[in-house]
Amino acid sequence: MTPRFFPTAIFTHVLGLALSLFASAAPFEAAHATTESSQPGAAGAPYPDMPLIAPIGVRTDKYLDVPDSAKGPAIDPAKGYRIQKLGDGLYMITDNAYQSMFLVYENGVVVVDAPPPFAAHIRSAIAEVTDKPITHVVYSHSHIDHIGGTKGLGGKPVIVAHKETKRLLARAHDPNRPLPTITFSDRYNLKVGSQVLELSYFGNGHEPGNIFVYAPAQKTLMVVDVIFPGWMPWRRLALAQDIEGYFEQVEKIMSVPFETLVAGHVARVGTRADVQLQSEFMNDLKTAASESLRTTKIGEGLDPRDVTNAWAVFDNYIDRVAAQCVNRLTPKWSKQLGGFDVFVWDQCYAMEQSLRID
Ligand SMILES: [Zn+2]
Ligand SMILES: [Zn+2]
Repeated sequence: MTPRFFPTAIFTHVLGLALSLFASAAPFEAAHATTESSQPGAAGAPYPDMPLIAPIGVRTDKYLDVPDSAKGPAIDPAKGYRIQKLGDGLYMITDNAYQSMFLVYENGVVVVDAPPPFAAHIRSAIAEVTDKPITHVVYSHSHIDHIGGTKGLGGKPVIVAHKETKRLLARAHDPNRPLPTITFSDRYNLKVGSQVLELSYFGNGHEPGNIFVYAPAQKTLMVVDVIFPGWMPWRRLALAQDIEGYFEQVEKIMSVPFETLVAGHVARVGTRADVQLQSEFMNDLKTAASESLRTTKIGEGLDPRDVTNAWAVFDNYIDRVAAQCVNRLTPKWSKQLGGFDVFVWDQCYAMEQSLRID
């Protein structure tokens, strides 16, 4: 694999310094020496103040350690999942990478999401608690990695989802994601026996149709692919299709009086503090990207032979903006969020782009 910016040998050297993140830029001066003999199109020297965190497309021997705050209870490898009681009749199921939920009522069970990695275990997980049948499935959103195990649950459950989710699923023609039988636009109260799930839609915070599932009696909110408790958001702000909408959705989550958050990913449930921390990170990201756009000059350091290559001029500018953005975020955040170094470049690219064009 060819690094985007400079030769692998240099990067290996740089990454050896990962523990001293803010060491001098001496290794980069050595890197400049390699550019004189480089051929057009070959990887060149890093930019001034290049972050000591590997850019996208560059391999690293070892990422930063994941902080304890990002970890959760262990999984029994023989079972491949664990369940966690969240309140009266409400349980989370997880393989410590994905999360779904089920709610037991007088006559049956409501399942919220069936992620393929552990969907085959959902019936065993339910059987640990009750022998009642699955009567309903709620889809958080249309993405296959969260609901692609639905067909495998068997039976003919009522399937509830947002109308946008139905539209996307009709287009996908995927037999493993049966079409919803009940859809709604803004709100839907799913009352089953004495239990209630309040479903509501607050716009495109991830993809159209991604809903809030709130269990008021258990003070538990499930919103998938928006908050990542203890972790960096997944790459490019969790692939949010509307980054302004993503920011709004995080604030909306705080307005729900939940105590426990089932976020669809990672090894543990979330708290209000997790949402606040992610909100703080996102606001710092916005500030860092905004200041980097303001202080970066177009064309600086560009090879004079490339000044008529508009794509190259722009790429050089955006890469330097992202490098500054990474440098601004690293001191405060590199040890606070799991996977900071894995996806910080993605977040900076996504944020600077949103600030320029949205
Ligand atoms: Zn998704
Ligand atoms: Zn996801």
